[in-house]
Amino acid sequence: METLDLFKEIAQTNYNRYLEEAKSKGTKIIGYFCNIPEEIIMAAGMIPYRMRAVESTKTTLGDIWYSTINCSFPRNCLDQILEGKFNFLDGLVVMNSCDHIRRLYDNCKYGDLWPNFLYMLAVPHVVTPESIRQFKREINRFRLALEEHFNVSITQEKIKEAISTCNHTRKLLGELYELRKQDPPPIKGAEILAIMLACTALPKEVANASLETLLSELNGRVVIPKGSPRLMIAAGYLEEIDYMDLIEKDAVVVADSLCYGVRYLRNLVDENKDDPIDALAYRYTSIACPRMIESYDDRIETINNDIKEYNADGLIVDNLKFCLHWQVFRFMIENEIEKGERLSCPLLVLERELHTGAQGQVKTRIQAFLEQIHDRKDQKVSTHEAFKY
Ligand code: SF4
Repeated sequence: METLDLFKEIAQTNYNRYLEEAKSKGTKIIGYFCNIPEEIIMAAGMIPYRMRAVESTKTTLGDIWYSTINCSFPRNCLDQILEGKFNFLDGLVVMNSCDHIRRLYDNCKYGDLWPNFLYMLAVPHVVTPESIRQFKREINRFRLALEEHFNVSITQEKIKEAISTCNHTRKLLGELYELRKQDPPPIKGAEILAIMLACTALPKEVANASLETLLSELNGRVVIPKGSPRLMIAAGYLEEIDYMDLIEKDAVVVADSLCYGVRYLRNLVDENKDDPIDALAYRYTSIACPRMIESYDDRIETINNDIKEYNADGLIVDNLKFCLHWQVFRFMIENEIEKGERLSCPLLVLERELHTGAQGQVKTRIQAFLEQIHDRKDQKVSTHEAFKY
């Protein structure tokens, strides 16, 4: 399937021919971590590029600046930066997603490791009228910093245009997610991950056109037998397609709570608001991520709703070692499952470091988990049969 293969190809590398072509025409590319208002970068006439470490195989250089009890995502990213793998970027925007990412900014700034535009964007951890006001000031400061450094003008009109383009991407991805509710779904979780990685490393126009083509190509596609175990995966940072393939060896991931997943597309920016900065401030603080304080009940409810809507048979919580946000959230999810009031389904917890394999162990644990799901399904059938009679 041509378009899906294109997405898979783009997802495997840091740089790609679409970025190369844009750069050859003088377009700037700005890297960013986590969820920052990429519309501001687009309104500056530049391409937003979400940072990843898909080509990374080591952290030896990154570990010169980081301790090994830091999260392996920023450690791999810094290693790639020091290897010159992101030299095609004209700037880097870091946000206060966690202390590990914040440390990357410090290392780049005070270690003089980043060659050009470097910016730290403070995104609130809580949503209040004051935090939204503060975030609007932050977004405007970011806008000004881009304008001054690159000598460009970022108008309200251009921001509104960028919001409309990004909302279109989110809607197209939303259509893709709707297909996952089917049994069998025409697309696997590993393919969705590839699409998300690709869409955040392409000019948005290319991403949108490719998504439209893909949606038409998926009609009637069969990738897994009907009735296969359906899984939901919730995780902090996950970018490894081979890891998702391993999870899906005898099952299919039909729903997720991932950075490169539903957290990227859920919640459109309100295009009816007069002030686009206001609209951006609300949208980018509404993302159900454990860094957001006071959003715990919403996050549990969202996971529970997704399990039901996508008819998932089991939940996998996967967290990177030393990620405090997700270690705490994982613990809370385990508690909820134990109580069985707000969340009730088989749960598998996996902890690992980025790109570190351990495939054998994960495989065994997945197999045991799928058996648990099968048993539970059989019990349901026998209970239902019993009831029936
Ligand atoms: S996975 Fe956790 S610790 Fe690592 S960068 Fe993301 S939020 Fe930070």
